Amino acid sequence: MAKYTGPVCKLCRREGCKLFLKGDRCFGAHCAMDKRPVAPGQHGAARKKATEYSVQLREKQKAKRAYGLLEKQFHMYYEKAEKMRGVTGENMLQLIERRLDNVVYRMCIGASRAQSRQIVNHGHITVNGKNVDIPSYLVKEGDIISVKESKREKPFFVELKGAKIANLPKWLSFDPATLTGKVEALPKREDIDLSIAEHMIVELYSK
Ligand code: SF4
Repeated sequence: MAKYTGPVCKLCRREGCKLFLKGDRCFGAHCAMDKRPVAPGQHGAARKKATEYSVQLREKQKAKRAYGLLEKQFHMYYEKAEKMRGVTGENMLQLIERRLDNVVYRMCIGASRAQSRQIVNHGHITVNGKNVDIPSYLVKEGDIISVKESKREKPFFVELKGAKIANLPKWLSFDPATLTGKVEALPKREDIDLSIAEHMIVELYSK
């Protein structure tokens, strides 16, 4: 499936919850989910009978859209997770959380996952002192994530140096003054604040 380039607020309305795809706007008065919390389209407000399949499908779409992944990428994480020890759904979410673009977002370097992906793509980030411009790079425990030294004087990052970082998950640390953070531990399910019923995604894919 091709990359979705339409209005992202429609995705939140379709999934019936905030996916926080637009940075600061998601917390302001202009959030489309606060203004019109019904599915887009002429019959968006109509109640539809939910089937087991439709509920599972919506959970999968919600997770995929929140992380900004394509179907193929998302399915790949499921396949990897299935081969790991433990609970497949939790393993899958843990793998996706460990993506470098997500870590940059969680450290509040980027305001949204889309912006964080761009920051990584444009070569602004180093992992353990080495340039990494692959958003799907999986971080490991102990990795040091920094804004590249030569980019630190860009206005975007200068502004970040004075910022207060709120809601940093406990598996990460980040010091805005030095624009450097650390993966303190691998994320556990309870560290991931998205309300996703991952077991339904596993049920859907294992049919
Ligand atoms: Fe979703 Fe953010 Fe748009 Fe609100 S502003 S509908 S949370 S993307």
